[in-house]
Amino acid sequence: MKIGILTIGNELMNGRTADTNSSFIAREANQQGWVVEAIMSVCDGLTAIKNRLDYLLSMSDAVICSGGLGPTADDITTEAIAKAFSLPLYTDENVLNYIRDIFTQFNLRWVENNAKQAMFPKGAQVLPNVRGTAPGFSLSINGKMVFAIPGVPAEAKLMVTDSVIPALRKHFPQDELYIVKQTIKTFGLSEAAVDDKVKDINFNSLGVNIGFYPVFPENHIVLIARGKNQNEAQKNLQKAQDEISARLQDYIFAYGEETLEGVIAGLLTEKKLTIAVAESCTGGMITNRLTDVSGSSDYLERGLVTYSNIAKISMLGVPAEIIEKHGAVSEETVRLMAEGLRKLAGTDLGLASTGIAGPTGGSPEKPVGTVYLAVADSRQTACRHYAYRWDRQRNKEVFSEAALFLLKNFLEGKFS
Ligand code: AMP
Ligand code: MG
Repeated sequence: MKIGILTIGNELMNGRTADTNSSFIAREANQQGWVVEAIMSVCDGLTAIKNRLDYLLSMSDAVICSGGLGPTADDITTEAIAKAFSLPLYTDENVLNYIRDIFTQFNLRWVENNAKQAMFPKGAQVLPNVRGTAPGFSLSINGKMVFAIPGVPAEAKLMVTDSVIPALRKHFPQDELYIVKQTIKTFGLSEAAVDDKVKDINFNSLGVNIGFYPVFPENHIVLIARGKNQNEAQKNLQKAQDEISARLQDYIFAYGEETLEGVIAGLLTEKKLTIAVAESCTGGMITNRLTDVSGSSDYLERGLVTYSNIAKISMLGVPAEIIEKHGAVSEETVRLMAEGLRKLAGTDLGLASTGIAGPTGGSPEKPVGTVYLAVADSRQTACRHYAYRWDRQRNKEVFSEAALFLLKNFLEGKFS
């Protein structure tokens, strides 16, 4: 089934309000396995609304309009929809009484404008609004459906989940009703590279939709699988997930709601290992993320921000000559930071970062975005060097992510 979304309001046109209703409606529609064919926003204008509605209806089975149902003169969605389908308007006495009751109940002064919210195009099905005064409505037009729901996000959301989705499911019965979802989280490849690695998989034949979502600095894949029953949907999802996992195994770090720091927490706990972190360019971000997990005191011993050379020398035992010779941002330094802290803290593991977040401090050999990372245990030290190209904040975020990713691979024995 194809859906069109039309958000209506002058406030959307002048930038005063960000259109969050369309993304909410789109997410809900996707959840049902429906295709959102187009999303449009339009001002509170009779002809403008009518034209966009005609256009959206020409390409979809149902159009969901939000906004413009209020009592003020600028809200004209009901009138515009009536005009678009040449339907007369009528007043629904039950709705009028309901609105009047609300005014009495809250001791509000009744103004005649409010009666406007009880007017509907002939043939409309009224959709109740328990969070506000303006009800919505639906119309069946030549087998297609048009919905009008309020603009206020809280009211719109409730009406979508409680009235619009059930009405659409009833009006357009589908064979494949069962939908299951999975998120696959990757790091280390661009969005385009992720897409390239999985593009040979025939998701359609598996009954699966795939979507790519960059959540900086990660790239997430969202799979939506359909099936005639829960079991079939789950099987289709598993097949797609297995195909993707086989191609992206070096980059996938978590599924579903899991986070990178959560996966690391699981590995450290399972292996009964402790860790200490020495951070330079990441300024505590790695430690901060580790402590986002409840129970992290079981494995995190300490996190130091050793920003200056003096701190690296006096707090981690990095020899001054090493920094002098190779620089604070170097493989030699980061290795000794991780190894030094591990010994001083008496932990099983040491993790360290040193780099150039920018925008200043770069050089031709070590440009802004350069980072060195190291993880050490009693047997070995794994070092990695990366060159990113973001601004200061994003560089810090990607450095931290890369450090945690390195740690995860280390814990999974990828370096032994
Ligand atoms: P309306 O029903 O058009 O009078 O809208 C009432 C209020 O809801 C507006 O003043 C906005 O603050 C908000 N609103 C309307 N449309 C949207 C939308 N598409 N996304 C988010 N908020 C909205
Ligand atoms: Mg409005």
